[in-house]
Amino acid sequence: MHILQPIATTENCRYCLMCRHVCPVGYVTRSETLSPHGWGLTIASVRRGLLQWNRETSEVLFSCADCGLCRAHCATDQPLPDAIAAAREEVVELKQAPPAVYRIEQALQQWSNPYTQQQPWPVKQRGDVALFVGDAALFLWPSALEAAQLLLSAAGVQPVLVGAGRNNGYLASSLGLRSTAEALAQANLEDLQASGAGRLLVLTPGDYYTFSRLYEDRLGIAWPREIELVELVPFLAGQLEAGALRLRRSEDTSPYAYCDPTHSARVPGRDRAPRRLLATVLGQPGLELFWRGERAHPAGDTALQFTQPELADQLTLARLQDAANHGAFMLISEDPGSLAHLNRHASRFALKIQGLYELLARHLA
Ligand code: SF4
Ligand code: SF4
Repeated sequence: MHILQPIATTENCRYCLMCRHVCPVGYVTRSETLSPHGWGLTIASVRRGLLQWNRETSEVLFSCADCGLCRAHCATDQPLPDAIAAAREEVVELKQAPPAVYRIEQALQQWSNPYTQQQPWPVKQRGDVALFVGDAALFLWPSALEAAQLLLSAAGVQPVLVGAGRNNGYLASSLGLRSTAEALAQANLEDLQASGAGRLLVLTPGDYYTFSRLYEDRLGIAWPREIELVELVPFLAGQLEAGALRLRRSEDTSPYAYCDPTHSARVPGRDRAPRRLLATVLGQPGLELFWRGERAHPAGDTALQFTQPELADQLTLARLQDAANHGAFMLISEDPGSLAHLNRHASRFALKIQGLYELLARHLA
C-alpha cells in the first residue's frame, strides 16, 4: 500500500508552486530541482519511465529535509513528505540510495541510534507518567534531559524514563528504512507498555509528530488510544498558569530570540507555550525570527546531517543568520538535536545558544 501513495501525491505536486516559498531546502539552495514540485516531478517522471533512479536522481531524492513545511502550507493537505519517504523506500530496495543510508541502517539496527555504540537503557520503573528520552537528549545535549526532570520534579511529577538511547523512528522512516523504523517504533511502544504509564511526555515537537502522526501514516502503527501524548513545553506552560510551577525573573536583559525547533510546523499552535515561559523568566517577549512558528525552518538535525551534511549545515547557518539579522545575542530552543547543530556554528554569529529547559530549571522559584 505504501508504495502506491507517492504516485497520487506527486501527480498533484509536480507542477504546483503553492508551497515553494516555505521549503527550506529550496530557500537555501535556490534550486528549482530541490523544491517541493521538483521532488514531485522527479518521482512522477520515474513512475512514467522518463527518468531512472541512479546516483544523480537518488541524490536529489535524498536532499529533501522531510521537515513537513510543504504539507503544513498545502491547501489540500498533500502528504508530499510521506510520498518522498515512500519513494526512498523503493530506492533503498534498489540499492541506489546514498551510501550513508546503509551505514545509518546498520547503526540503527545494532545500536538503535546513529550517534554512539551504546544500547538503549531498559525501563527500570513503573509509574503513571513516562518521559520519552530518545537518542539526541542522551547523546548530544544531556543537560536538557536533566533540566526537564528537575522542572517536572518541581511540578510534582516523577516520570519513568522510556526510549532512553533509542531513536524515535523518524530518522529511519525519513531515509526509507521502513522495517528498521517499524522495529524502533515497536521497541518504543514496548518500553511504554513496560512503564505502565497512561501519559507520555515528550521533549520536542519532533517526538510529538513522530508518535502522533508518523507511526500511523507511514508505518501503519496506531498510537495506543489509552496513552495520552503530551509535549513537555506546553505542559510546563500549563503548570505555570495553574500555579503548580513557579519561576523567578532572570536579571539577564540581553536580546534573545526563541528558535522554534525542527518539526514545529508539524504541530500547529505549539508556538505560544515556549514564548509564554520565556517571557515569564526573561521579563519581556523575545525578538521574533522571520522563519518562526508554523513556518519555522529546521536546523540541520534531520536525516540530511548524515546524507547531505553540507546542506544540513546550510540550514543551520540560515537559522543562525535569521537570529543575527534580528539582533539577538542569545538563541533559545529546547530540542537537543537542534541545539547541538545550532551550537556547532553559533560562534560565527557571536550568538549564545541556550537550552530552554536548562534556562527554566535555573530559575525555579
Ligand atoms: S504539497 Fe500541496 S502546495 Fe506543495 S506542491 Fe504539493 S500540492 Fe502543491
Ligand atoms: S519536506 Fe521540507 S524540504 Fe521536503 S519538500 Fe517539503 S518543505 Fe521542502
